[in-house]
Amino acid sequence: MKIFLGPAGIPIVSKGESTIDGVKTVASLGLNAMEIEFVQQVYLNETQAKEVGKIAKDCGVRLSAHAPYYINLCSKEKSVIEASKNRIIRTALVAEAMEADAIAIHIASYSELSADAAFKKVKQGLQDVLEKLSVNVKIGVEVMGKKTHFGSLCEVLKLQKEVKIIPYIDWGHLFVRDDGKINYGDALEKLKHMKHVNSHFTCVAKNAKGQYIDQHVPIIYDAPPFKPLAEEILKRKQDITIICETPLLEHDSLVMKGVFEGLGHSFD
Ligand SMILES: [Zn+2]
Repeated sequence: MKIFLGPAGIPIVSKGESTIDGVKTVASLGLNAMEIEFVQQVYLNETQAKEVGKIAKDCGVRLSAHAPYYINLCSKEKSVIEASKNRIIRTALVAEAMEADAIAIHIASYSELSADAAFKKVKQGLQDVLEKLSVNVKIGVEVMGKKTHFGSLCEVLKLQKEVKIIPYIDWGHLFVRDDGKINYGDALEKLKHMKHVNSHFTCVAKNAKGQYIDQHVPIIYDAPPFKPLAEEILKRKQDITIICETPLLEHDSLVMKGVFEGLGHSFD
């Protein structure tokens, strides 16, 4: 089985600020994955992306990319939907150029639609996008934490049956969406048809009312706990990429690596 671990973005300790410096730093730390964060915009063109991909391949770093946050396939504004589709296409093409494994997309908020209507709109939007794309990179629809956003695990799995996307798991989001509960065994059971699972991990904070919210905190906060996830992955021999989204990017990636090694897994 293969486990890929690494930061969401350029490591904090990276001396250079470029994506290539980031990839090299990831490898030098003994990590084997990195997500390129296009959260504001897709800041690489295809030529630059190819270069990043070449270096990542040489260093043994598996790449993924995060699409810009400003995407909503359920918007009331047609122009926002069209711009969203273009942002997805742009992310996918650049990710393809770097031979990334998958992209993660925050696909929509319900925007006052019923869950059914939102599902239809998301599906239609993705079909339009997929018609224009011929890529190997997996198009990942991320599970979302806020209940106002499209993307329960159930919705994303249903979507996978109807369009060519993958569920992009975010363990912190699942925990927030289910009000501070998570059953890793149940979730991985629902994902066992996947040869490789792509995922994010972060711990999250509580608000003043004591509810967990999608605010990222270091892994030491232990909510959700990481070790039971690692145990469940090893028990099931599930191939997986886990991108660390805590504020302590590479530090917490290495903490996660240590947990796997403590459980007997070897990354060699
Ligand atoms: Zn995300």
